[in-house]
Amino acid sequence: MTSSLMPLSARRILKTAKVKITTKCNRHCDFCIFAEGGQGENMSLDTFAQVLDRLEQIPFRQLHINGGEPTVHRDFHKLSALARVRFPDQIMVLGSNAITLARNERLLETVLAYYDQVLIGCDEEHDNYEEVHAVLPVLREAGKIVVVNSVLEAIAPDRLQQLAVLCEEHGAIHVTNHVHHIDVGQPANVLGGLCDRNVDQHLMIEVDGDCYRCFNAMAKIDSEFTVWDADFATKVFEPRSKHYEFCLKCHEYKDSGFPVVPAPIRHTAPA
Ligand code: SF4
Repeated sequence: MTSSLMPLSARRILKTAKVKITTKCNRHCDFCIFAEGGQGENMSLDTFAQVLDRLEQIPFRQLHINGGEPTVHRDFHKLSALARVRFPDQIMVLGSNAITLARNERLLETVLAYYDQVLIGCDEEHDNYEEVHAVLPVLREAGKIVVVNSVLEAIAPDRLQQLAVLCEEHGAIHVTNHVHHIDVGQPANVLGGLCDRNVDQHLMIEVDGDCYRCFNAMAKIDSEFTVWDADFATKVFEPRSKHYEFCLKCHEYKDSGFPVVPAPIRHTAPA
């Protein structure tokens, strides 16, 4: 045998399993398609436990608890504690706007007890400068990795500079982004090969169990399977041979040149 096709699933591991525990939020950012303000829906504690059961079937590095604003979930403490117990070796990451953390000591204690990293969106839309200034030093003092993300379309230069200084002073990471996960009337991409930007990167699980293998592919039609499917663990690593609906409008489209991603890799067997 001169060459063989290795089974792709045998050596693959997902970077992030992201569970959206609520679509409720305490903010109404214009660009956000992930939340529905106070009208949103919580994932029940029971459903969350079942999602964790499903995640035990796949290898992944980080468990990301996300929303909406996850800290407004009434069972945030219990959900966080349960996830930590079930996945002691995975990195626990929280996506938050930090507003409740600045105002509610119990919630902040929950984060300090169970999470390793906190990702905070901060700009005019989030309107959370004071809260971030209050919470970030506490998180860093406790040794948490903190990443502050600002949307460039929604922040004034002086605010951006202040955040950069705050992060520098406390050893947090400051990143900026363009709004990339919404259709703002941009012309459609010319889709050639499939985009492999998110292969083995993010699995997002919605409140209803719908799964997306790209954080950007958020059109309901882009959900390829659910966490409840019997062959869920296989589907997570199945090759993709179709564009997501949202690839047409995605600012991050990157043509891999391949009609299937990940492209099969040929391994030459030793002579
Ligand atoms: S083009 Fe965008 S939505 Fe499509 S796979 Fe790439 S990053 Fe995801």
